Amino acid sequence: MAKVTHESIHADSPIDYDPVGVLNVLAASEGRQVMSIEMGGTKVSSTIYTVEDGRFVIAEQPEVQESSRGIHYLPFLESQAHKAAAFNMPVGISYPGKTEEDRPITAVNVDLFVEDLEHEYAGRFGELFPSFSFLANDAVAGLAATAITVKRELPKAENMLYVINGTGFGLAVLKDGQLVGTEAGHVEAVWELNPYHQLRPCGMFEQDFPCVERVAASGAGIEDIWKQLTGEALSGSEIVQRLVMGGRIPRELYENSIRAIASVTTKVAKLNDFLIDGDNVVIVTHGGAFEVPGYYRRFKDTMDHNLRFDVPIYNFEQNPCAEGAALGALAKDLAA
Ligand SMILES: [Zn+2]
Repeated sequence: MAKVTHESIHADSPIDYDPVGVLNVLAASEGRQVMSIEMGGTKVSSTIYTVEDGRFVIAEQPEVQESSRGIHYLPFLESQAHKAAAFNMPVGISYPGKTEEDRPITAVNVDLFVEDLEHEYAGRFGELFPSFSFLANDAVAGLAATAITVKRELPKAENMLYVINGTGFGLAVLKDGQLVGTEAGHVEAVWELNPYHQLRPCGMFEQDFPCVERVAASGAGIEDIWKQLTGEALSGSEIVQRLVMGGRIPRELYENSIRAIASVTTKVAKLNDFLIDGDNVVIVTHGGAFEVPGYYRRFKDTMDHNLRFDVPIYNFEQNPCAEGAALGALAKDLAA
């Protein structure tokens, strides 16, 4: 593993975040509607929530646009922007890459959308959405939402690591009341973590080496390596079927993925001194990889071993990124 430093993981500037304060935001937003846009590498979806009894209730069936590299995202988002403005709903956006205020920084799996946005709206969501309120990296949004649930169940939890492994691999940190997004998936994958010799370069930050995401993410890593090895373009769940049937290559790919992701997570924990006061540390996981048989369990065992304590790990199957974006939007809207 290459060095994990604040620089190599491209840590964002921290956002103040108090999970208890956010519960107050929800209480103060009773009856309010909010639009949450969730962007991913294969689809973008728009969900309208109503706040009822301090929780989000889906007000109408989410609308979805599927495409690769974000190619049809802009017209979809224009129609959503119209709707949000017409109903005066604040808009929160969860984005699969780095962000700066209302600007998405280009990410490999949505690069064509970012070009479109640059061209039509000066690269700003604030220009596209008249009622724009909040934009965050998807791991940050996911952690913002899950931290509330974790806090309700384990009040002493203060410091959290959020690990997402789906199309890509992302990691966000909650420490001392501050949320920090990182690009920890894009640190270099050293050869011990690259047994099938993935050569495809990272592609982020003009890095020409294969990164951890390229070997360990369910989509950008495992599906891609499978295709290179076999010539077959299979989905993640089809590869999992091969795993369940006893396939050696799928097993090795997933075992390596667990090793790689646990290694990066451990190093980010150490970077944040999460080893010293382990009793208030929680890891939150999300994404398709954690639903693969045995994956969550092995990840938990590896983290306990690496950190030398029994670290509480909460896995969220429901997608928390959309709720996190909605929370951020309501909080900004209240403060405005
Ligand atoms: Zn990368």
